[in-house]
Amino acid sequence: MDPALTFTVSDLADDDAVQLPCACRVRTFTRDHLAALVGRDARLHLLGLRRELWCRDCGEAPFVGRLVYPATISQA
Ligand SMILES: [Zn+2]
Repeated sequence: MDPALTFTVSDLADDDAVQLPCACRVRTFTRDHLAALVGRDARLHLLGLRRELWCRDCGEAPFVGRLVYPATISQA
């Protein structure tokens, strides 16, 4: 299995961030922010399914396919 599919919020480094693009903008979430919203056990590739992260302006879920992982994650 692709290791990227098993990464959770808790696997991010303290200073890592994840960008979640939606229809109207790109929002950037820090590790602590994600942990507060969806919990440390949330899998990163499933963040788009978490209604807590859906955009309040356009009402769209983030585009999961365009999740931008920090370099430290993709190389792990
Ligand atoms: Zn939006």
